[in-house]
Amino acid sequence: MSLPVRPEPKPGIMDIAAYVPGKSAAPAGVAKVHKLSSNENPLGASPKAVEAVRSVAASLEFYPDGAASRLREAIAEVHGLNPDNILCTNGSDEALGLLAQAYLQPGDEGVFTEHGFLVYRIYIQAAGAVPVVVKETEETADVDAILAAVTDRTRIVFLANPNNPTGTYVPFEEVRRLHAGLPKNVLLVLDAAYAEYVRRNDYETGIELVSSFDNVVMTRTFSKVYGLGGARIGWIYAPAHVIAALNRIRGPFNVNAAAIEAGVAAIRDRGHVEKSVAHNDQWLPWLTEKLTKLGLRVTPSIGNFILIHFPDERRSAALADEYLTARGYILRRVAGYGFPNALRMTIGTEEANRGVVAALSDFLKD
Ligand SMILES: *Cc1c(COP(=O)(O)O)cnc(C)c1O
Repeated sequence: MSLPVRPEPKPGIMDIAAYVPGKSAAPAGVAKVHKLSSNENPLGASPKAVEAVRSVAASLEFYPDGAASRLREAIAEVHGLNPDNILCTNGSDEALGLLAQAYLQPGDEGVFTEHGFLVYRIYIQAAGAVPVVVKETEETADVDAILAAVTDRTRIVFLANPNNPTGTYVPFEEVRRLHAGLPKNVLLVLDAAYAEYVRRNDYETGIELVSSFDNVVMTRTFSKVYGLGGARIGWIYAPAHVIAALNRIRGPFNVNAAAIEAGVAAIRDRGHVEKSVAHNDQWLPWLTEKLTKLGLRVTPSIGNFILIHFPDERRSAALADEYLTARGYILRRVAGYGFPNALRMTIGTEEANRGVVAALSDFLKD
């Protein structure tokens, strides 16, 4: 047997389709760019979080607290949780990756749904496990279909609730039924990245399930309603035995000093959260109505973004994307999510929202 002539990644690594983030640039000459491609808060971060980051700048030579204790305590206080069951991460992406690393080995299966968040597939494959993709019903995760896909090799089920890029959700009774149908050795990961935006009586994040069972965890992020995507702060609420496993494999200083201070300030600024949610409550239905009136189908969303479907080849998502980008409106192509003819739009500022509706109205007439 001849040796490879250079270091080779583990089997499967080069089969992974690398994550493609939302675009952020428009062509030269566009006066103003509205980035509506990554579900960022159009109001920005809390001014208190910005100030907190400024103050950290004076002492960057010091390592951060590796346990992020103050941040865990602030999160615990706001959500009424035990800080020992919280682990802070470099974005919730890191939490999802650590879970896959800790609980999946080659031959195992990780389950997620057809239009589910693409990061799940990446981390399942990176762990050498097999991604199992489950059909959805009406662009919504289907509990019966997920349960039917579980085998004796399944170790993790990832469910974004609400999901990105559809904005649809699974009511809590259905999440409960999903959990009840899973074997006890299968970890149910509830990714509640958009939970703060949800206004539905039949929705819950999963905190209660995590508190009651050994095989459920919830992940959360500061990237969306808190407007801190650039600071990379996420957290996981999990049973002690899961936290103990993740603490063994995470980077020792995985959440940096600026992120810790930004997070503590942001989560305590409830006024900024309320303002951000109120903005979404106003513009999510407005955009849905205006775009529907233009003849575009919009998937009913409870998040801070909408999925807009385009009618035909002459008025395709690709052409609409070009048209909008040329005018400074950067939306998100979602072909990789199984929607070749749709664009995802983050709910933006009033100016951006009105601008997109006007531009799409022109696009459809042209
Ligand atoms: C944006 C998003 C996240 C958050 O990712 P971060 O790493 O925390 O920035 C997680 N899950 C879903 C479904 C998302 O859309």
